[in-house]
Amino acid sequence: MSSSDRLARLLAQSRRAVVFTGAGISTESGIPDFRSPGGVWSKMTPISFQDFVARPERRREAWERAFSGVTRWQGADPNAGHYAVARLVAQGKVSAVITQNVDNLHQHSGVPDDKVIELHGNASFATCLECGLRHELEVIKQSFLGTGELPACRGCGGIVKTATISFGQAMPEAAMARAEAETLACDLFLVLGSSLVVYPAAGFPLLAKRNGARLAIVNREPTDQDGYADLVLHEEIGPLLGQVVPLAS
Ligand code: ZN
Repeated sequence: MSSSDRLARLLAQSRRAVVFTGAGISTESGIPDFRSPGGVWSKMTPISFQDFVARPERRREAWERAFSGVTRWQGADPNAGHYAVARLVAQGKVSAVITQNVDNLHQHSGVPDDKVIELHGNASFATCLECGLRHELEVIKQSFLGTGELPACRGCGGIVKTATISFGQAMPEAAMARAEAETLACDLFLVLGSSLVVYPAAGFPLLAKRNGARLAIVNREPTDQDGYADLVLHEEIGPLLGQVVPLAS
């Protein structure tokens, strides 16, 4: 049986699946994996949350990076993998997409906002750290590049930051709780493009498995959790899912 047939069969047997995505699904859209060798974080140190809040010069550096295009989050489009996941959600097969990515590509591919659980936040907009008010990046960019002044909240004057979870920042409680509930409610946990090394997010696959769900891992490289999985495929996600999703529907 081909790998796509095996994955299609697991999906066909599932009544409620959860998809868990990492950088690997978005590298196929041209977004670099920050943590990989040669990735962005191997060339420049991430700015911790504590530094961002305490030191204006680090805040300036963070905004300069955000608008330099180095992250390639802006302007990237979803690929076949994202669209296949969106079809699985639309079919009612997948109840939630838990993602470690901050690139907004699941929403961009048509997954409703309330079906996407972002463990590391979202880089496509900013929020005020004081009052939570949302700020659009395009507005901040024009102001910051035009005046050189650090972005401040138009509502309360507080510090504004992209809506990502930075190094040193607490995990988002509501998202973590929803991810856990979805994990415990699923009968198939499908990992797409995560090396499963960043905890606590990487704890969800084994939680699902211990709770009786099947576990499938699709990742280009082997992961530490491959030995626990019912199906492991070291393949590209887009081409594989492009075959699987029509088969599984
Ligand atoms: Zn504010």
